[in-house]
Amino acid sequence: MPRIFNFFLFVLALAAEPADIIWSARYVITMDAQRRVIENGAVAIRGDRILAVGTKAEIDAHFQPKLRLDRPDAILAPGLINTHTHAAMSLFRGIADDLKLQDWLEKFIFPAEAKNVTADFVRWGTRLGCLEMLLSGTTTFTDMYYFEDVVAEAAREAGMRGVLGETIIGFPVADNKTPADALAYTERFLKRFQNDALITAAVAPHALYTNSDETLKAARALANKYQAPLIIHLSETKKENDDELAKRHTTPTKTLDNLGLWNGRSVAAHAVWVDEADMAILKSRGVGVAHCPSSNMKLSSGVAPVTRMLALGLAVGLGPDGPAGSNNDFNMFEEMDLAAKLQKVTTMNPQALPATAALEMATIRGARALGMEKEIGSLETGRRESSEGLEKNSGGGRPFRRAGSSGRAGAESQLRPQP
Ligand SMILES: [Zn+2]
Repeated sequence: MPRIFNFFLFVLALAAEPADIIWSARYVITMDAQRRVIENGAVAIRGDRILAVGTKAEIDAHFQPKLRLDRPDAILAPGLINTHTHAAMSLFRGIADDLKLQDWLEKFIFPAEAKNVTADFVRWGTRLGCLEMLLSGTTTFTDMYYFEDVVAEAAREAGMRGVLGETIIGFPVADNKTPADALAYTERFLKRFQNDALITAAVAPHALYTNSDETLKAARALANKYQAPLIIHLSETKKENDDELAKRHTTPTKTLDNLGLWNGRSVAAHAVWVDEADMAILKSRGVGVAHCPSSNMKLSSGVAPVTRMLALGLAVGLGPDGPAGSNNDFNMFEEMDLAAKLQKVTTMNPQALPATAALEMATIRGARALGMEKEIGSLETGRRESSEGLEKNSGGGRPFRRAGSSGRAGAESQLRPQP
């Protein structure tokens, strides 16, 4: 009998496909089309791609890894996807709290940026941001700031995936004195990071109210020339809507549609003050939405109609927004928690946004918002390796009843290094 068993193992070893790593865990949350949660699961990885996902027994039978990480008490899940932030602003944390957006921006942030922002500031601020993001399970972040090439270097150094765009704004800033300069900078940036494994270069006009129509049109044209995503703040505050209604009698979403801004891959951050007609436009143009509940609550901006957006099938992801005043951290577990609770309390319906829907927003739906769902957001064969391991038995995770709803149980996560 032992001899037959040994022979069996020998045949298995011969048949086994090489893998770089096998990671096994008590639960593997796949976020695949069936939303499978595999008990005693494992993932086999080669290079930066997932070879297979299955039970530990299946994966061990088919693959021979160079390295293995067995975490029998952990949950393995897709790395979280931050769809909107300004990472380097971590160095401004605590500079101004308890203010409305316009006061916060105009009286504190814009002047502080004019005085302090340099390439070095951005490098260290982004490094701190990446550290915090990695420690709370985020492996992809979407950023809009200045010296964005330095942000890209810091992201690569941290092994993080970035969708990054240089802010294009209608007044002089540290690295670009005019929107034309910022557009030229963006084109160089797009060329430098074409086909990069970790960096997706984007075009990032700050907002409708901080840019001319000509700049916005040029930004769209540039994004389409390089098949890059365009990221923009949209209808964050009531004031932004009121001003546009007074000026042109249309909502910001409609104005931008009239300008052709949505004619291509786009991500709109906030979308708090959008009505049915706006949501229909966003849906028909395939615009991804970055919902930022912490920021919207802290700046009293309002509550985005996320339940309605999800019912319409919009691709809604989550973002912590800036870590200075509009939030004070990068924790995506907090965003999941607040996104769900905000919808529950404002609709007085506990099923308005279930835990699984919040997790979808932080993973596969966030990937869809960025137009990257074929690459990231789920643990499936062929996807890029990008996962997080959560401690199931941390204090907040006990008693453990259901993978995917243990809230902040896994806020301290251990990330797999990336290529
Ligand atoms: Zn923002």
